[in-house]
Amino acid sequence: MNKGKLIVFSAPSGSGKTTIVRHLLEQGDLNLDFSISCTSREARTGEENGKDYYFISLDDFKKHIKNDDFLEWEEVYRDNFYGTLKAEVERIWALGKNVIFDIDVAGGLRIKRKFPDETLAVFVKPPSIDELKIRLKKRSTESEDKINMRIAKASVELATAPQFDTIIKNYDLDTAKEEAYQLVRNFVK
Ligand code: 5GP
Repeated sequence: MNKGKLIVFSAPSGSGKTTIVRHLLEQGDLNLDFSISCTSREARTGEENGKDYYFISLDDFKKHIKNDDFLEWEEVYRDNFYGTLKAEVERIWALGKNVIFDIDVAGGLRIKRKFPDETLAVFVKPPSIDELKIRLKKRSTESEDKINMRIAKASVELATAPQFDTIIKNYDLDTAKEEAYQLVRNFVK
């Protein structure tokens, strides 16, 4: 199979990476398709199975781990498993497209290590932890407890930024989107 490129976007929760990834998917010249991850977490209101995630049970997730079906997987938050199926990347490559990932920092770095030449690993940096807190609260998709868990993890994640190929500072969303577009365009052309 002809391998396309792999574009990884990783960042602490609330940094704006999902918005940036969605923007890039709308740019037809980049020839991107979104890697739909498996997760054992509950779907949020508005999320669709097979579009945002493959929502599966914890049991099924563990079966996939046992069968070595994942390219990478992480227990991103306690009892919430997330992973990329090898078959998902093959599906996108078979379409002749490049794969874009919205995954956590550990998963992103794992993909970079597995495919060093094919991967562009981008870290999206929020202005500050305080700003992250404000954004997560505004989004109000998580309980207070879960927000605190995400904030606690953010400091650890921020420390991994230098291991990525490049860092985009998301201080202004439009600027960050444009910077991301230029980076990806140079990488895939
Ligand atoms: P959320 O619950 O907000 O959708 O995602 C929580 C975190 O898990 C985010 O940082 C998201 O990017 C990450 N994530 C989503 N899919 C995957 C995956 O397949 N693998 C890994 N390692 N992380 C993922």
